[in-house]
Amino acid sequence: MRRLLVATGNRGKLCEFKAVLDGIVEIVCPDEAGLEFKDVEEGVDYAENARMKAEVYRKQFNDLICGEDSGLEIDALEGRPGPLSARYGGEEMPHREKCKMILAELADIPMYERTARFRATIALIDSGRVETFEGVLEGWIGFEYRGDKGFGYDPIFIPRGFSRTNAELGMIVKNRISHRAKAIRKLAEYLKGKTSITTKGTKFPEKRQ
Ligand code: IMP
Repeated sequence: MRRLLVATGNRGKLCEFKAVLDGIVEIVCPDEAGLEFKDVEEGVDYAENARMKAEVYRKQFNDLICGEDSGLEIDALEGRPGPLSARYGGEEMPHREKCKMILAELADIPMYERTARFRATIALIDSGRVETFEGVLEGWIGFEYRGDKGFGYDPIFIPRGFSRTNAELGMIVKNRISHRAKAIRKLAEYLKGKTSITTKGTKFPEKRQ
């Protein structure tokens, strides 16, 4: 079975990859491969960030490598925080504070103008070629911070068709509907050889899928 190095230091993301790709490839993280994790996010869009995360290991790992980058795009903020989601308000600012800052920025915005989406892009290096896979979760930003089950911006994001935030819905539901789960499922199809059709990474600040 081929090995896939997932270039992440985030255990939660690694579990999401393992949940979908188990039996298709053997998933390893840098730690498990005896490699140091380096987070690089200097690109202009998700696809470039994802590719750069994977490129770090090109010389050190001799099989499939993938990087992933994701973010939250809020229409009323012209697509912000987008690819800068992790650094919005400063890298050191805890996500609880970032969420509260966004709620304050949207204080005067009515419900129908609070549309937003999570976007995830995976870049796979396969025999020197780079393939990208994208997933989107549409929804809107609620009026208060709610729930404790997710991470990042989950407590303020309500997926379309639901009345609760990602952080209230919990991992079982979220792993079924999330932007990352959708991108990983596309990667799974590619790895199974069922399709070689991939979606291209989208340049920020495009808002629609
Ligand atoms: P990165 O791709 O690990 O750099 O994450 C980008 C940013 O988007 C981080 O601030 C995350 O917290 C946020 N983010 C990405 N995916 C999710 C998610 O599923 N829920 C909540 N926040 C997320």
